[in-house]
Amino acid sequence: MTFDKLGLHESVLRAVAEAGYTVPTPIQGAAIPVVLSGVDVIGIAQTGTGKTAAFTLPLLTRLAKGKAERGAVRALILAPTRELVVQIEQNVRAYSRHLPLAVAIVYGGVGERSQISALRAGCDLLVATPGRLLDLASQGHGDFRDCEVLVLDEADRMLDMGFLPSIRRIVRGLPKDRQTLMFSATLSKEIEQLTSEFQKSPKLVEVGRRSNPAELVEQTLYECPHNLKQAMLTHLLAQPGWDTVLVFSRTKHGADRICRKLAAAGVESMAIHANRSQSQRQRALESFKSGQVRVLVATDIASRGIDVDGITHVVNFDFPDQLEDYVHRIGRTGRAGATGKAVTFITSEDRGDLRRLERMVGKALPPLQRPEGFNFEEATRQAFSQKSEDTAPRQRHMRGPGHGRREAEQKARPPERKPGQWHGGRPQGGGSSGGGGGGFLARRSAGRGRS
Ligand code: AMP
Repeated sequence: MTFDKLGLHESVLRAVAEAGYTVPTPIQGAAIPVVLSGVDVIGIAQTGTGKTAAFTLPLLTRLAKGKAERGAVRALILAPTRELVVQIEQNVRAYSRHLPLAVAIVYGGVGERSQISALRAGCDLLVATPGRLLDLASQGHGDFRDCEVLVLDEADRMLDMGFLPSIRRIVRGLPKDRQTLMFSATLSKEIEQLTSEFQKSPKLVEVGRRSNPAELVEQTLYECPHNLKQAMLTHLLAQPGWDTVLVFSRTKHGADRICRKLAAAGVESMAIHANRSQSQRQRALESFKSGQVRVLVATDIASRGIDVDGITHVVNFDFPDQLEDYVHRIGRTGRAGATGKAVTFITSEDRGDLRRLERMVGKALPPLQRPEGFNFEEATRQAFSQKSEDTAPRQRHMRGPGHGRREAEQKARPPERKPGQWHGGRPQGGGSSGGGGGGFLARRSAGRGRS
């Protein structure tokens, strides 16, 4: 199949050819004609399948016919994160480069002024996160009365992030007579509920619906006690072929810590998470995309919308909080036909979750291995001495009057045992390589809400 058989506008076809696409991906082949027919569509497609073009190409074909009036919005795409908004905008701008269409973006975390002027001027296509859009719309910005098309991208994630009330309020301001396209990685009961609320007799376009991770991704599971994760990551990053690596951390602080420790090991990296300003996140993403920095450390939420071609490896430094995120994470490599590799560090506490993940994807993942050339004993010794170095300055910072004596006493006494800390050169819980320690368990149950 070729793109020119799908009924797209010739200017869109030109842009698609210039983007280097020759063959529509399965979701594009299936969705484009249906979207062009004007009906509502539920698209079930994983990230990395080309779903953005699947809805933007027919959308631009439809919009090519008219022009936005001052202050009006003709089509609205809602997406869960700023990164995804920017990503969609970049796609839209590329595909609409031969069309005189006005495209605007609205998302939180940055000044409102330029967004308000874009809405005042009117736009053919607006890409927005629900929260900020609702803020601006409630202040009277943007006229949505003639909005012809609504797209809810990554609808499942927007539900997870609690955007439903905002989306409901936004949809209330749109005409009833509109085309509504909804894209989601999975078709859950909640998504079905959403379609009955927002769509009319939607057609289901389901491509590669699977909880199974992208087939093109080679998955490896490494047995790794919590305190050796950093050493293992550094070891892997020194292997040939580890050129563009996306590392997933469960928490924002964890992501920063990974970056700091990589820097100490002489590996440059950048972090992307919700505590970073929009410009910092954008800079990190750009540096990663351009190859200036080969390691990007991300949290799950911030990673949505990271669309970087040629990611060679995804590392699940921490096991994902939500099992579905495993699929999203590893889908960041092996995009659009490329092959990729995903590596997951498995601590002893992760094993239950691993079983659950295997049940979800419907098959056994490869057995746990140890990375070639990684010396567990040496790494364990170093982690222990590192830990002692790490704790020493903190004790000094915390001291008050009379600290000198206390410090002398501490030196004289054997170190106090805390749960989860190493003692006597052996991890608590024993085991040859396992035994991440009780402290990890405590942190984990506080942070994850499940274990
Ligand atoms: P998406 O699933 O929309 O995030 O797209 C994943 C990646 O596939 C992006 O980098 C797109 O630029 C790329 N892509 C989309 N459609 C095609 C196509 N027909 N041929 C080759 N690459 C594509």
